[in-house]
Amino acid sequence: MTFTAINGSVVSATLFNGTETLEHSDLIAMDMASLILRCESYYKDKSKFIEDAVKVSRLGKEQGCEEEICAICHDEYQAEDMIGTIYCKHTFHPQCIKEWLRRKENCPICRAHAVAI
Ligand SMILES: [Zn+2]
Ligand SMILES: [Zn+2]
Repeated sequence: MTFTAINGSVVSATLFNGTETLEHSDLIAMDMASLILRCESYYKDKSKFIEDAVKVSRLGKEQGCEEEICAICHDEYQAEDMIGTIYCKHTFHPQCIKEWLRRKENCPICRAHAVAI
């Protein structure tokens, strides 16, 4: 959930997946408790989604990883680094891609959905 505030008051809120924007009048009408519950269940689903999406393995020479840098932080992989691979076979630092997937569900390189759908 991200909130847009103008002069310190919330004017709209957008759910993390970006599909739903709640305007100020909705926010007033909506019970705050139910809003928080929605948020919590979204977070739970999200961590499961991230665990499913990112396969973490140790970078080895035999692995023949295509990219030599992480497209998110632009750092080179070091030998023996842990790397996270998602469904489209693109690789990133596990921390980088997990952080990314908290906000978006698509690969930052090819925009493919991060899990098989
Ligand atoms: Zn990175
Ligand atoms: Zn990709």
